[in-house]
Amino acid sequence: MYSFPIDYVEPVFRPPSEAKSLILPVTNGCSWNKCTFCEMYTQPQKKFRARKPDDVLQDIQNSARSLGGVRRVFLADGDAMVLPTRRLLEILGQLREAFPDLQRVSSYCLPRNLAKKTVEELAQLKEAGLQILYVGMESGDDEVLRRVNKGETWESTRSALVKIREAGLTSSVMVLNGLGGESLSRQHAINTATLCNETQPDYLSTLVVSFPQGEERFREGFGDDFVPLSQQGLFEEIRLFLEHLELDKTIFRSDHASNYLVLKGTLGRDKQKMLDQVSLAITNPGAAPLRAEWNAGNPPLDKWNPELSGDMDLRITRDGQWIFKGEPLAREAIVRLFSTILRKEEDGEYYLVTPVEKWRIRVEDAPLLAHSLQVTGEGDRQVISLTTNVGETLEIGQDHPLEVGTYPGSDEPRPVVKVRHGVDARLVTAAYYDLADHVVERNEGGHPTLGVFSHGIFYKIGQGG
Ligand code: SF4
Repeated sequence: MYSFPIDYVEPVFRPPSEAKSLILPVTNGCSWNKCTFCEMYTQPQKKFRARKPDDVLQDIQNSARSLGGVRRVFLADGDAMVLPTRRLLEILGQLREAFPDLQRVSSYCLPRNLAKKTVEELAQLKEAGLQILYVGMESGDDEVLRRVNKGETWESTRSALVKIREAGLTSSVMVLNGLGGESLSRQHAINTATLCNETQPDYLSTLVVSFPQGEERFREGFGDDFVPLSQQGLFEEIRLFLEHLELDKTIFRSDHASNYLVLKGTLGRDKQKMLDQVSLAITNPGAAPLRAEWNAGNPPLDKWNPELSGDMDLRITRDGQWIFKGEPLAREAIVRLFSTILRKEEDGEYYLVTPVEKWRIRVEDAPLLAHSLQVTGEGDRQVISLTTNVGETLEIGQDHPLEVGTYPGSDEPRPVVKVRHGVDARLVTAAYYDLADHVVERNEGGHPTLGVFSHGIFYKIGQGG
């Protein structure tokens, strides 16, 4: 039986752009591991340690034997650059020897990892094959950084990024949209922009801050001051950030599934174009391409099968409220994000699923509600669309069939549209009445049958007279 040459301590993370890389753990966990917004390495098995050189070498040699043509290697886990330069040079040498086709090596990097490394040392690492360092800037505002316990400052991040640039390495910087909440949003946006201007990263991306395990730990740093940004607030923060950016040639992306609005381009060249896109999303969200891009970002849940992590104290009520630990989840961004990782399994239970965790939650009826029925076309060319309570538009058809059943032990109709991964959106009463306006009767197997057409398919609703 084939087994992968590296025995990973899960969970293992890598940037999306390293999807084709061999992930080689040279450390376990993150040497800092105190950021209150980060849950990547909080499990006991991810406690930080440098891996033994012999174990790393063994993984390299096993991979060389069983994997052909490795061209890219990502050094895991959270901050491989914490290792001494001498040790990193040794690893890079072993990689070059094992993989003759090697083109690039990359790693996550904390600014603090570079405090004691000189530009000359970084240049040596580059010479030995290191190419890209991914730096979680998160914010350029010292107050935000302090509140989230990042352990870095504007200056420490500036210093690290300047060293990376001077050594000729490529920097890829990540910023968290919404990290300072409402009260610190303005200074978060402006100071992060000034830090980017000072350091001119090669790549820059933004993600919306989220807390799949709850906000408790994060709120400790803010007390009662933290008011999460609404979708509108997130857009306004991004606009302010973009307005203050003065970049020469940075590839900018906000295309992670957590972003409502996908922005891609090169800054400064595309600055005005992106500002126009954000302004449109603020002033006329209906005209901005929010929904389609968001749909495209739905995670591949069918490929994720982690062990059950436990029961989460999260309940979706019949009227569509998400109640976490007895309190409604007020933040629509979180509900929206959760709805993309929700799956119903064969046991009839609902789970929030990530590549490494699976939490069972309670659902009183259908997890989502469908309203705002819209109809275009006529006859069997008719298309019926519904909008869910998380803002997704579904066209009834092959991907999203309509089913009208009844509640157990009653005649009360229960019309649902299939969303994905076993998750349904139940039509609210008004939408069901609107649907009734489009019902037609046709003969099916000699019986008059009532139903509606959408995308050329007839969906049965009941018997005709
Ligand atoms: S430094 Fe990075 S990996 Fe470590 S806790 Fe902070 S965000 Fe997470």
